[in-house]
Amino acid sequence: MATLNLASILDDSAAAYPERTALVLGDTRLSYAQLNGAASQVANLLVERGIEPGDKVALSCPNLPYFSIVYFGILKAGATVVPLNVLLKGREVAYHLNDSEAKAVFAFQGTPDLAIGAECYEGFNGAAGCEHFFMIMADPTAASPIEGTETLGQGMAGKSPVFETVATDSDDTAVILYTSGTTGQPKGAELRHSNMFSNQETSQELFGFTAGSPETALCVLPLFHSFGQTAIHNATIATGGTLVLLPRFEQNAALGLMVKEKVTVFGGVPTMYVGLLAAAAENPDAAAHVKDTLRCAVAGGAALPVAVHQQVEKVFGVTVLEGYGLSETSPVASFSPVGQPVRPGSIGVPIKDVSMKLIDPETGEDLPEDPDTVGEIAIKGPNVMKGYYNRPEATAEAIDADGWFRSGDLAKKDADGWYYIVDRSKDMIIRGGFNVYPRELEEVLLTHPAIALAAVIGVPHDTHGEEIKAVVVLKPGASAEADEIQAWMKEQVAAYKYPRIVEVVPALPMTATGKILKREIPR
Ligand code: AMP
Repeated sequence: MATLNLASILDDSAAAYPERTALVLGDTRLSYAQLNGAASQVANLLVERGIEPGDKVALSCPNLPYFSIVYFGILKAGATVVPLNVLLKGREVAYHLNDSEAKAVFAFQGTPDLAIGAECYEGFNGAAGCEHFFMIMADPTAASPIEGTETLGQGMAGKSPVFETVATDSDDTAVILYTSGTTGQPKGAELRHSNMFSNQETSQELFGFTAGSPETALCVLPLFHSFGQTAIHNATIATGGTLVLLPRFEQNAALGLMVKEKVTVFGGVPTMYVGLLAAAAENPDAAAHVKDTLRCAVAGGAALPVAVHQQVEKVFGVTVLEGYGLSETSPVASFSPVGQPVRPGSIGVPIKDVSMKLIDPETGEDLPEDPDTVGEIAIKGPNVMKGYYNRPEATAEAIDADGWFRSGDLAKKDADGWYYIVDRSKDMIIRGGFNVYPRELEEVLLTHPAIALAAVIGVPHDTHGEEIKAVVVLKPGASAEADEIQAWMKEQVAAYKYPRIVEVVPALPMTATGKILKREIPR
């Protein structure tokens, strides 16, 4: 059965609003007609080089117009996009290209401190099945810095800006997303056109996007990750809005762009909100301007601490809507329900057509409906991936015979059906037989006036099995000693829970998405 190719969101917007601005990067503005024409040239290039529907094509590019151009070009040709994290080293790129059986790779040249093109070329040389390499140059007329490699500009030259998007079948894969890799070896989540289409459509409804009143969204979440890709990029393109691109999150630059471009929508992970608050504290005038235009703020990707949530609402005068999901669920699975007051600390309720339930993490059995029960979230619906690419065993472990996907996240559900994340099951600390949830302690730490970021982890301990360690980053200009923070925590929480080790550090390791990378914190 034929289904809608995900690229139809661009085809339709380009037909309806050719002159509207689709993408903004600095002083560069691309209309929908220009974006669609360039994407069609990429599709024609791929067809010319023998790429067929169903082939995998990798893309490593920061948030630049080229990301959207190549992304839609690959989709139009009926091929599958494999977005790569731009921070990957050559060896890791080779792993991803081999694992996804990519036939071609598009790589941005990079910046002086981030050699994306060179790393990807090294990876390409380590992937025997990958036949084509295209270097994306910031200046499309420039030659590639690596001799013998073709540039995207050279490939597109002379190609027609018209292409009839290939119709896809209901089970065809639009995108393979390698999961963020905070645990284990990266696996490719295969997302169908229908998964990605339905999730961006529901995102539009939840954020109140309409084509008649197009939004201007700040697009700083990395586009290779599902949150930025589906909820911000695809939902905005589908409604003819404008994406203001920022290739790397820098809090003052983000705040400045929000003022300059009169941004109406911001989507970010919690650490970005912490950064925006710091920028607003330094520049209250800019914060006041943002308050005038910002209509919708969406948080997800990691737990938004209640203290941060409340502060953002106060400073920017906007309701923060929190959603929850995973790469494997396209990503949105639950969200603050439309028209109801938000409940800080909650990930809301399952989105339209999606079901969620709590199961026993050991046995997989359903748990009783009781507000105090903590269980693993299982998800079923049109957003759930086909499976992990070429990994039937991992797929069978993740998705049961009835289609329920196991998230690995522990949660509670209140009497009204709102869910509250307790923690990731893998992050839970067991200290002397007591379960300790890092998230709970991180929430408390963030109410300390000097603390900007906090991560709590378990470290091996001879008698308790695990000991609780807190690692914190202080707010600019604030001071607090580790001992003082520990003593303060002792007053706030039960004796078995307060962190026995506290470290104050200048920065925490982060994923490219801006999530705290707990496994890289020294134990
Ligand atoms: P990824 O596949 O990179 O999108 O990561 C998915 C993981 O992010 C989930 O399994 C959760 O652990 C975490 N996550 C996403 N949204 C939230 C949220 N609103 N609150 C807490 N954790 C979240």
